[in-house]
Amino acid sequence: MTHTVTLIPGDGIGPEIAEVAKSCIEATGVQIRWEVHEAGEEAVKKFGTPLPESLLESIRQNKIALKGPVTTPVGTGFRSVNVALRKTLDLYACLRPCKSYPGVPSRFSDIDLVVVRENTEDLYAGIEFKQGEPDTDQLIKFVEEKLHQKIRPDSGISIKPISIAGTKRIVQFAFDYARENHRKKVTAVHKANIMKFSDGLYLEVARAVAKENPDIQFEDRIVDNMCMQLVTRPHEYDVLVLPNLYGDILSDLCAGLVGGLGVAPGANIGMNGALFEPTHGSAPKYKGMNKVNPTALILSGVLMLRHLKEHDAANCLERAIAEVIREGRQVTYDLKNRRDDATAVGTREMGEAIIKKVKSNLSGVKS
Ligand code: NAD
Repeated sequence: MTHTVTLIPGDGIGPEIAEVAKSCIEATGVQIRWEVHEAGEEAVKKFGTPLPESLLESIRQNKIALKGPVTTPVGTGFRSVNVALRKTLDLYACLRPCKSYPGVPSRFSDIDLVVVRENTEDLYAGIEFKQGEPDTDQLIKFVEEKLHQKIRPDSGISIKPISIAGTKRIVQFAFDYARENHRKKVTAVHKANIMKFSDGLYLEVARAVAKENPDIQFEDRIVDNMCMQLVTRPHEYDVLVLPNLYGDILSDLCAGLVGGLGVAPGANIGMNGALFEPTHGSAPKYKGMNKVNPTALILSGVLMLRHLKEHDAANCLERAIAEVIREGRQVTYDLKNRRDDATAVGTREMGEAIIKKVKSNLSGVKS
């Protein structure tokens, strides 16, 4: 069967890792027809928008996409294409597995954590009031009159919505994921002691959902304590479920536990489709240098193959990646013990080594 997949190479290091990931996925023999679309700055130049309708339509049609990172201008310019894609397509669950691969330099070994991050609400919702604007002054006055709380008049304000419906579906997603993947425990992360009406609601709903899923253990942790526990006792955790902002921050922390962003894949999943992308960004300083690690995007491809029920291809590709990393010869600078190790190879060369392993695994010959 041929799958049609929307491919968004992205910008910065995106196009070079996307090219390598595409070749690695194709090496497994899975038949894929790629529909390539641009997003971000390049799309603005061509179509006048960072997120062209043709791209959204392609994902709606194919229900599956592989995406490289896209730069978000800081402070001014367009809002994040990445956040807009997740929101527009209602890809509400962000799945970020953080797994140790022997050979990756890191402080811990044998980590196998999964971060489930809510993707559509919270401070990430993009509901913001710019400092000095009349609407912002009005909001400040409203808060003062109704809540008798003072906000400094020169403030900018971001709103943090967390709903019952949004929380129910993300926590249920975490339990379903845990069950399907033979996991034992779900930990809900929050700051309910301080933000009683947003995080407090999140915790209350999470506890109610947990009661409906008694076959999986459940516990909760306050986010600051969770950070400390993750860097001291990460093996005690299994599946973490978090609101959007904590999920964003803790998935980078968990990526750090297994050796960094170069090996941290991700998926954004909703009822209308799924988009697979690495946790890392577009690392503009490395653009076009054939230097960065393609693993996170290739592992995102592994998650995509599993989603397409191409389990043999997914296992074959993951094994090939693990073997190349374990051997430690044909790997990029970040996977060497010393970052200035002259034997580090480039993005393309690491991809070629993975393809060679895939092919030898498929033919049962050792390379
Ligand atoms: P980043 O993840 O791009 O890079 C941070 C650092 O991590 C890099 O300098 C590099 O040292 C390392 N790194 C990242 N990817 C690597 C790889 N594949 N191999 C080896 N090392 C790697 O984070 P940033 O610099 O904060 O963000 C750059 C841009 O990317 C911003 O515009 C940001 O908004 C965007 N971004 C996009 C996405 C996305 O597309 N989903 C996610 C995060 C950030």
